[in-house]
Amino acid sequence: MPNTQSNTVSKTPASVLLAAIPSVDRVLNMAATQDLIVEYGRMPVLTAIRAMLTELRDQVTRLDIAPPDILTEPAINSYLQSRLQRASRPTLRPVYNLTGTVLHTNLGRAQLPDVAIQAVIDAMTRPCNLEYDLDGGSRGDRDSLIEPLLLELTGAEAATVVNNNAAAVFLALNTLGLRREVIVSRGELVEIGGSFRVPDIMSRAGCKLKEVGATNRTHLKDYAESVSSKTALLLKVHTSNYAIQGFTATVAEKDLADLAHEHGLPFMVDLGSGTLADLKKLGLPSEPSPQESLASGADLVTFSGDKLLGGPQAGIIIGRRDFIARIKKNPLKRALRVDKMTYAALDAVLRLYRDPERLTQNLPTLRLLTRSVMEIDSMAKILLPVMEQALAGHAKVAIKPCHSQIGSGSLPIDLLPSMCLSITPHVRGRGEGSALKKIEQAFRSLPVPVLGRITDGAFCLDLRCLEEKYVNEFIVQLGQLSIIA
Ligand SMILES: *Cc1c(COP(=O)(O)O)cnc(C)c1O
Repeated sequence: MPNTQSNTVSKTPASVLLAAIPSVDRVLNMAATQDLIVEYGRMPVLTAIRAMLTELRDQVTRLDIAPPDILTEPAINSYLQSRLQRASRPTLRPVYNLTGTVLHTNLGRAQLPDVAIQAVIDAMTRPCNLEYDLDGGSRGDRDSLIEPLLLELTGAEAATVVNNNAAAVFLALNTLGLRREVIVSRGELVEIGGSFRVPDIMSRAGCKLKEVGATNRTHLKDYAESVSSKTALLLKVHTSNYAIQGFTATVAEKDLADLAHEHGLPFMVDLGSGTLADLKKLGLPSEPSPQESLASGADLVTFSGDKLLGGPQAGIIIGRRDFIARIKKNPLKRALRVDKMTYAALDAVLRLYRDPERLTQNLPTLRLLTRSVMEIDSMAKILLPVMEQALAGHAKVAIKPCHSQIGSGSLPIDLLPSMCLSITPHVRGRGEGSALKKIEQAFRSLPVPVLGRITDGAFCLDLRCLEEKYVNEFIVQLGQLSIIA
């Protein structure tokens, strides 16, 4: 009877298997469980035990099997241990952004400088003068914490801050254009990150979108012909995350400002990723700055705090004093305002701009963007043997030149030369794609997940954003890399 053995195992009655599952109390009283209680607390351990027992009973009744080894004391303990470890891990975790996109919206955009982090800690730990005028001893305005600095750096008359740039655009449109028309070039009706669409923001802000021109070409006369008594303002959106190349025409900010002012209308610019630094001087491709838009005659300029500026998530609105005053009186300002942590971080970051010589040293975003290929390459050389060892038997590793992107909508065509570790699975042809995905997944499953990008049959880790101070941690955790064959 060759089959009896397996038949007996699978045909053990469920009732017998169920009876073998220990009670909550028995697991609770195991010596190893007591240690877990000391580490994690009684309630979390109890929750984990109940979840484990439910899972076991479920297996027995549904599948008619009870893997016998799970019922031993060490097995129960290691199950609980890993369950408790997972449950106690924060959901928002650090990752390695080796995707090659420096300001990655899905990975939290700008990394803040230490001075900003310290300022946030102070603001969170102790009471602060968020809305308190220490000179006059009376109620203050939270915008006055950063307004003088913004004016100093941009030359604007007034400034205010909201939750992000989408909120800045929304609030400005709602304040100046409610129930009236806003003229925008058809070529600028961008969608950013799948959720910021100019037409949608416009309609929610209560404005009527008046599109002018064609997708690739818009001329000054297109704007001029659309101005009417219903016009509230002219808007220019910096089409940062895509570029139409070839037969194109856009109208200069100066011309639009002049046209708007001839009709007594405001001209607003949504810059998206406005930079306060002179990127050309830093050897980076140039990006429009809020200062330039103001100098061209813009009455309001909006930009993000956590894109090229390198600060916390925020939307900054600068421009004419009377318009900013109206924006601040809009009841929606209260709904879109930022908290003390944002002011603390933004203030610290803006202060760094007073010292342009040391900006690339002090501001992580610019430090990463200006990192030299040579520096990145020397890191690649250190990592190559370690990586080869971690992937032995699975994949080949090589140092290859690649291009990083600024990200968050900036400069889609101008790429930054960089270096990557290019990982190609040994499996070629059929099964290659899935082998590649398994490698990608293994890196993603590390304690500090490593995120790269798959291009041309290789998993690429662009090392531009691997900072010196994390290299050691990076190498150590590679020992835990496990690729499921
Ligand atoms: C990024 C961007 C926005 C949205 O800014 P958030 O800070 O992400 O809200 C709006 N307009 C433009 C042109 C952008 O590039």
